[in-house]
Amino acid sequence: MEYSNFSREQLFVRIKNLEMLTQELLKEKEQETRLEYAWTGNLGHWYWNVKTNEVTFNPLKVTTLGYDKSEIPEHVTYQFFTQKLHPEDFQKTMDAMYNHLYGKVNVYEAEYRIKAKDGTFKWYYDRGKVTQFDEDGKPLFLAGIVFDITAKKEMQLELEYKNKILFEMSSTDGLTKISNHRTLIEHLKASITEANLTRCPLSVAIFDIDNFKKVNDNKGHIYGDQVLIDVASIIKNSIRGTDFAGRYGGEEFMVIFSNTPLSDARQITERIRQAVEKHYFVDGLKITISGGVGQYNNEAIAELIHSVDTKLYEAKRNGKNQVVSD
Ligand code: GH3
Ligand code: MG
Ligand code: MG
Repeated sequence: MEYSNFSREQLFVRIKNLEMLTQELLKEKEQETRLEYAWTGNLGHWYWNVKTNEVTFNPLKVTTLGYDKSEIPEHVTYQFFTQKLHPEDFQKTMDAMYNHLYGKVNVYEAEYRIKAKDGTFKWYYDRGKVTQFDEDGKPLFLAGIVFDITAKKEMQLELEYKNKILFEMSSTDGLTKISNHRTLIEHLKASITEANLTRCPLSVAIFDIDNFKKVNDNKGHIYGDQVLIDVASIIKNSIRGTDFAGRYGGEEFMVIFSNTPLSDARQITERIRQAVEKHYFVDGLKITISGGVGQYNNEAIAELIHSVDTKLYEAKRNGKNQVVSD
């Protein structure tokens, strides 16, 4: 419509009419959304006039945050919402909007937490698009829809948390909190595959606590358990970040030394043996360990473990508290 010929009064009438129409349409939209809301979580539509920075929206978007309709300002800006964003979600939501405004992505799409009046956060899924551009191709007007996904998101986060716990439970040893047998074998398999590809040396050590049965017999199982916990932590603290330690069996531990030749692995293994020997265990009981260490030489995984085991038994036969390697 050509407004330049309109008189001031005609323009006011026109504006008034449009305002009434907008009100009516929004009211209808609100009713429609309220009916849908219970099962879709749809909070309704929003429209953002970028130039005047005015957001027109279904009040459900704000009333579900605990605000009364009377608390919604007459001129709602984009910042009215963004200043309520959770700090952790602010930047990614801004990026999603800017990426769309600058034409890098076809739609604006974001999941964010927004602060309710009582200080708690609700999860919203928001999606919109520029629907009008000015003559220079700059965005003028956006339209979008928003959903309350709090219940779904909380369930998802709880599941993710439970999954994490389950994963930890299934991959770590309950007593010593280091990796369990299954995880060790998985890691060893992966390390062998990598060594085959990269041709980097790979070494493996197995330790066994000496005369551990006597520890249990003399001091009880609880004491024995504590010795296992202490030995596990000594091993864990003696290796590098790239090495991998786990509880192989009852009082046996394995260390996988990625990208490490036998000579280096032998040194670290010997250092671990000495650390256990020097460690003060409760009641001053002396604990020692024996170890076998070997380097991967293209054999099958079972053969590799067997060959390291053989060295461990040699250490036991030779009088314990020692490390045997090739
Ligand atoms: P060696 O020096 O030849 O290794 O003798 P050892 O007594 O250490 O070996 P043996 O295999 O005879 O005994 C291992 C003991 O480890 C027996 C078993 O009860 C104990 N053990 C295995 N797992 C646990 C555990 O989780 N807690 C406790 N306290 N003891 C355990
Ligand atoms: Mg044993
Ligand atoms: Mg033993």
